[in-house]
Amino acid sequence: MVVVGAGPVGVTAAVLLARRGVDVLVLDRHAAVYPLPRAVHLDDESLRVLQAAGVADAFAAVSRPVAGLRLLDGGAGTLVEFHRGAGVHGWPQASMFSQPDLEALLRRALADQPRARFRGEVEVLHVEQQGRAVRVRLRDRGTGAEEVLDADAVLGCDGANSTVRRLIGARMRDLGPAERWLVVDLASAVPLDVWPGVQQVCDPGRPASFMPVAGCRYRAEFRLADGETAADLDLPRLLAGFGAGGAEVVRVAEYRYAAQVADRWRDGRVLLCGDAAHLTPPFIGQGLGLGLRDAHQLAWKLAAVLDGAEEALLDTHQAERAPHARALIRVAVLLGRLMTGGGSAASGLRRLALAVVRRLPGLSDFTLASRTPPLRPGRLVRRPRFVPGSPVGTLVPQPVVTVDGARTRLDDVLGDGWAVLTAGGRLPTLPDAPDPRVLRVGDGAGEVSSPELAGWLRGRSVLVRPDRIVAAVAG
Ligand SMILES: Cc1cc2nc3c(=O)[nH]c(=O)nc-3n(C[C@H](O)[C@H](O)[C@H](O)COP(=O)(O)OP(=O)(O)OC[C@H]3O[C@@H](n4cnc5c(N)ncnc54)[C@H](O)[C@@H]3O)c2cc1C
Repeated sequence: MVVVGAGPVGVTAAVLLARRGVDVLVLDRHAAVYPLPRAVHLDDESLRVLQAAGVADAFAAVSRPVAGLRLLDGGAGTLVEFHRGAGVHGWPQASMFSQPDLEALLRRALADQPRARFRGEVEVLHVEQQGRAVRVRLRDRGTGAEEVLDADAVLGCDGANSTVRRLIGARMRDLGPAERWLVVDLASAVPLDVWPGVQQVCDPGRPASFMPVAGCRYRAEFRLADGETAADLDLPRLLAGFGAGGAEVVRVAEYRYAAQVADRWRDGRVLLCGDAAHLTPPFIGQGLGLGLRDAHQLAWKLAAVLDGAEEALLDTHQAERAPHARALIRVAVLLGRLMTGGGSAASGLRRLALAVVRRLPGLSDFTLASRTPPLRPGRLVRRPRFVPGSPVGTLVPQPVVTVDGARTRLDDVLGDGWAVLTAGGRLPTLPDAPDPRVLRVGDGAGEVSSPELAGWLRGRSVLVRPDRIVAAVAG
């Protein structure tokens, strides 16, 4: 099959597919990784995707856990603070990193996959369904020659201006207004004496954020007013306000942040993932995280369909991923409005709203506990009605467990397929999971020994999908 786009989402998808025995060709109009930093934050759910792709430990070595999020008023007084630490997913709840570092790790993981090939300097021009095959037309940017390839499926991971999205007739739907921000990357010879988390300035006059990235690198962002450019900003003064006056400015770039989700994610065997399917403002650092989840949740379904499973399995891609993406993008838009909306008269209201942020649906889960919404019920998500707090549709926690005397992370025990974790009683079943691996969990006994997991199961059994999402519960 063909993956269009060798950004972080396309390469992750290709690695996951190749690990499942699918032959994958990744095409990109550039040969090298995009060199400028974009994403700087990933949550612990996204790190489980990197774990599945085999790069999480290497990622941990080039990233740093971050203290949390602090919202400040225009006078740098703290309005509210959300802490991040060790969560339930086995990785720090929030990590800061530089996107080119992550992309370099992913490219190495791709090169290590015997079933995956990468070809750079090729522009994909056209994709067309031909029954169950997909015809891909491309141009070699070196020679100018056009070629045609036949693939059994195509994954459009070709970013914000996706060609594949246009070719399947999908359109982006707005969830909020776009904004222009100035992104400033900084480096310092010595660590700066700054708060080790993300600071957001909630000043409608000049909304801004500042954060440590990795090593002695930092990121500052300032919202631009209509018609304003970088030259209109007094950068030295603004940076000094964050205690970064002495840092070297590595690059200054203007970005337009949209809040959009595609209205169609699939046409037959052509599917979208990542920025091709959704775009989010950066306030909760979820753009790439959403794309990594797309790749993780689609790879096993696509591998199954290419191996003979029902095509209808692919219908769950948009049905599951689009509402999840929409929910998180709405949280980003809401937080952005709280931070930046209104004039000075709104400041009192903002203070009040932030004080009750804990009660805002969606926002509270995310800001307080770094929890993203469960997938909606459907073919692969059998959430019982009237059971508040059901884990169905969310990731199973990942404690370190003991198996045969060895301590290891749960995902590494679960393997690539469906699994049942049982603390006793009836086992949940699903037609799409005919033969799950059954693992008995105990507090000191059992195949998988883990007091945390046994406590979480509370005598129940859960059916876990290959992407670690709980599909059903029994008991
Ligand atoms: C300033 C900034 C800050 C951000 N901060 C965060 C953050 O903190 N956390 C977070 O999670 N996300 C963040 N994001 C978002 C994150 O960077 C993106 O979501 C992520 O890069 C999307 O990855 P992707 O693989 O979907 O697309 P891309 O990285 O855009 O990759 C698409 C690839 O497709 C290739 N391509 C496109 N068209 C064709 C074609 N026709 N033929 C061949 N190849 C093609 C391109 O060359 C490119 O390599 C930020 C973004 C920006 C701009």
